[in-house]
Formats: sequence, structure tokens, C-alpha cells
Amino acid sequence: MSIAAIIVAAGRGTRAGGDLPKQWQDLRGEPVIAHTFRALRPFVDNIVVVLHPNDQARWATLGLAADHMVSGGATRDASVRAGLAALENAAPDYVLIHDAARPLVSAAIITDVIAALAHHEGAAPAVPVTDALWTGTEGFVSGTQDRAGLYRAQTPQGFHYGAIVKAHAQMQESALDDVAVARAAGLDVAIVAGEERNLKITTADDFARANSMLGPEMDVRCGNGYDVHRFGEGDHVWLCGVKVPHGRSLQGHSDADVGMHAVTDAIYGALGMGDIGQHFPPSDPQWKGAASQIFLRHAVGLAAENGFQISNVDCTLVCEYPKVGPHQPAMKAALAEIMGLDADRISVKATTSERLGFTGREEGIAALATATLVKS
Ligand code: MG
Repeated sequence: MSIAAIIVAAGRGTRAGGDLPKQWQDLRGEPVIAHTFRALRPFVDNIVVVLHPNDQARWATLGLAADHMVSGGATRDASVRAGLAALENAAPDYVLIHDAARPLVSAAIITDVIAALAHHEGAAPAVPVTDALWTGTEGFVSGTQDRAGLYRAQTPQGFHYGAIVKAHAQMQESALDDVAVARAAGLDVAIVAGEERNLKITTADDFARANSMLGPEMDVRCGNGYDVHRFGEGDHVWLCGVKVPHGRSLQGHSDADVGMHAVTDAIYGALGMGDIGQHFPPSDPQWKGAASQIFLRHAVGLAAENGFQISNVDCTLVCEYPKVGPHQPAMKAALAEIMGLDADRISVKATTSERLGFTGREEGIAALATATLVKS
């Protein structure tokens, strides 16, 4: 079973405003036609893009691999016929003919159209009309129109390739769409469920709708941090901002808060902005014995300066002793205070390493952390 798609993009419609035809205008950083191409590509073996001759160089800059690029004709029908002709050698079983200006076509619509072609010569999506319909004359309602059985047609309109080629060859006058061509030739065309989301971008308002349908534009970053400090003489350790009594202390240039260091490095990591050692070099005496919250506050500030919200952090401490459990609420509260976050966005966990390795031998404590940052 081979399936081809024709993206009809030769129109010059500029009702959406701007100098460019709507299929070349920007939607979320790339032209509408690029979204359309990516939506269809996974479902078909061959894609033909039918372009206006003036747009061929523009297409080449997108770096999208169409199997055929052909020039459109003066009318939509002529453009579709040019697309069908390009598929003559490939001779696919099915062809889906789609408007370039419908970039939000869903996988469900595409697969429903393809599935319906197993039983019908044609299939196309449509949405039943739900608004009341009127006729109007000179600004006044002149009558009502029964909406029963009325549909708003969408694309892709799918057909058995040989049948639609023949139908187009027979067509004398110009047709509204390919379903009209198919029906004029006596083909049966099944209706599959369309979607409001599959809108045809025509006006500036449609761009705004398409943009909101794509959902909030989010930039989500994830970073990890890992740190180790060794035990030495002392009577307490600092862990995630909490002073925990212990028979030994962690050694380090600062207060050696291994958990807070891992969290800080996770934030730097998510930002792609180095690590603690880079921002606070151990060779610099001013950081000797420093409270680690200086480092964490710096990382949190950098995130804010770059427009990121810290969505959550998760830290795991690896040690046999001290027992972390009783201090977990205080650790979450301490990190929350320093980071200006709700405590429910912060997790502090602990595990032993089953007496294996340096943490198992109680030579030091290791900490791992993950941070998620969001810009919207
Ligand atoms: Mg450290």
C-alpha cells in the first residue's frame, strides 16, 4: 500500500495581511507550509509540493525534503493536476490532497481518511454545521436555512489515485474542491470526522487562533548536579541548609553543604552556565568557609535574570550517617526560603549505598540533584 500527499501551496492569498501569501507567513518561528509538511510527512511515502514559481527558492531554504516540487497552474484545479501528474511514475494507491494553509491537521484526521479509503474511492474530513444559518439581504435577515445535513469541508481529501486522476481529466469546468471533482465523476466520498483545530488560515484572526491552539510557548530546561565532600574532624555537617549534629564534619572550601552544591549545579546546568567552581573559584580566599546559600542565591538570581522560573528541584543525599529522614522537612523549608519557592516544589531524599563504596565506608557524602526551569 503506497500513499502520496499533494500539498497545494501555489495560491497568492494575502487576506491574512502582510506581503507574503498566508502559507509563507510565520507561525511560531516557521512558515505555515513547514508545519503542514511536518504534519503529513510521517503518514505518506511521497510528498508533492505544488508551489508558485516565485516561491521555489523560498521552499529550498526550509530544508524540507519533498519528493517532488512542481509549479502550480493558474487555478487550484490546475495546481492539483500538476501535482497528480508528478506522481505518475510512483503511481501510489492513495493520494491525499491537502491545503498548505491547514497546518494543524491532526494524525487522527489523516489516519481516518486513509482508513476510509479501504472501503471508499474517496474520503474527506468535515465538521457538521452547528450554528443557526440565515440568509440575509442588505444587512437584514431575510430567512433561515435548515442546517440538517450541512457540513464544513476540510482537507486532506483522499482518493484512490487512478480514480481521481481520471476524474480530474474528465472535469470541464472549475470545481470548488477535489471532492466536487470526484463526485462529478461518480466516485463515492465518505465523510470522516473533521476538527475545529484543522482550520484553514485565511485572515489575521486565523493566525491568532492557530497560535493559541498550539498552546503556550514554553521553554523547559533540565539540569543535573553531582557533588561529593569527604569527612574530617568536627561535630556537625551542613546538609541542604540545615546544621545536623554528627561525629564528624564535611571538609571543603565553603561550608561543604554537599546537597546545596548539587542543587546549585543543577540550576547552573539547566541554564547552560557553568558550575559553582566557575562562578566561585576555590582558589579565591573570599569564599573560604562561605555559607553555601551564597552560591544557591546566585544561581537562582541568574535563572531569574534569564527569564526562567524554577519549576522544581529534587536532591538525593547518599550516606549511611547521619540519618537524614528527621531533617527532611527542615531541609525543604531551608531550600524553599533561599530559592523563594513553595516547599512542595522541592524534594530532598536520602539513600544509603548498602555500605558499598566511599559513602558506604562513611568516608564522605555524595549528593545528586535535578532542576527543571521553565520560561513561558
Ligand atoms: Mg561542593
